Amino acid sequence: MSTHSTNSSQLPCPTCGLSSGAESHVCELEIALDWRMLELRDEIEDFERAFWSYLETAHGTFAQWLAVRRRSHAA
Ligand SMILES: [Zn+2]
Repeated sequence: MSTHSTNSSQLPCPTCGLSSGAESHVCELEIALDWRMLELRDEIEDFERAFWSYLETAHGTFAQWLAVRRRSHAA
């Protein structure tokens, strides 16, 4: 969802999702972050699904083992 329309003040702010209509709008970081997470929700869910199924493969299992091993050696 990447809209590039600029000719309407009714559209929500592309950065934070607020539809204040104010021209001198300042985005709040937390709201902007929430909005971005909401926008990317599907991608995040897809990524998580792919990530968890990867962990069940042989490569994924090895990667987990390696990560745990590296972390305990780094400490
Ligand atoms: Zn904004």
